[in-house]
Amino acid sequence: MVGRLAPSPTGALHLGNARTFLLAWLSIRSRGGTLLLRVEDIDGPRVKASAVAQTIEDLRWLGLDWDGDVLLQSTRLPAHHAAAERLLAAGHAYACVCTRAEIDDAASAPHEPGDDGPVYPGTCRGRFADPAAARAASGRAPALRQRVDVDAMPFVDGFIGPCAGVVRGDFVVQKRDGGPAYQLAVVVDDAAQGVTEVLRADDLLPSTPRQLILYRALGLTPPQFVHVPLVVGGDGLRLAKRHGDTSLRAFRERGVTPQRLVGALARLCGQPAPDECTPRDLLPSFDLGRLPRHPVRGHDLDWS
Ligand code: GLU
Repeated sequence: MVGRLAPSPTGALHLGNARTFLLAWLSIRSRGGTLLLRVEDIDGPRVKASAVAQTIEDLRWLGLDWDGDVLLQSTRLPAHHAAAERLLAAGHAYACVCTRAEIDDAASAPHEPGDDGPVYPGTCRGRFADPAAARAASGRAPALRQRVDVDAMPFVDGFIGPCAGVVRGDFVVQKRDGGPAYQLAVVVDDAAQGVTEVLRADDLLPSTPRQLILYRALGLTPPQFVHVPLVVGGDGLRLAKRHGDTSLRAFRERGVTPQRLVGALARLCGQPAPDECTPRDLLPSFDLGRLPRHPVRGHDLDWS
């Protein structure tokens, strides 16, 4: 059994990330599995170099550990590129020169909250012989887009249970600048690292059928997916800046100990826990089944 923590170093870890990583750690460690740390540092301009060290420090402060060396996703770019080339060569992916604005104009449905854009109408499907032809014809650097020929990729989630896995249109696997899209990078890296369980927050649930399509197209074995409800603010919305500073650093500066934070997070996750404890103290009684099935309000935590 192999799990992973896959933070994007976009700033200090906040309560929601900490809760997800604690659960991912508990799920694997309580069954004696191996846990890896992969820092997803290629996520465009949002990534800050100093945040890599900060992220690792925050995880350690919380009392989480991992096996082996930290993998920086940026070292994996050649593997992502090779996978994109394989998809292209096999006819699974095609060159696309549409801009975001053109896709928005041609969109057949408004995009749903929680998903990542309008449905691609298929404009460039079958339009160009290859990326060079796309570039020559349009004067633009093409992206690579995965063909989606199914309506759904149903799967059984380890927490939610059966999921319909609706897929919404052809999606980008390699961006116009040649970098991998999140969907491709995460699949290529999870497979290469032998990851068998991906536990993450359920805002990524719409991505899972896309990732399953890539596992299939690349001939790779998918992991067990486990999606847990988000931690939300007092207004029921995903934790964000407007909910105040819920970064671990802010708790630390206010004198909240990691043991205190772990105890509070554990109780938020329905686990029996004393006021103060370490992640390891939670292992004997850990049961994912006790996790509340609705979004949990970090706001309700009492730090007095
Ligand atoms: N790095 C991604 C994020 O922090 C998580 C990717 C994943 O768990 O699949 O949003």
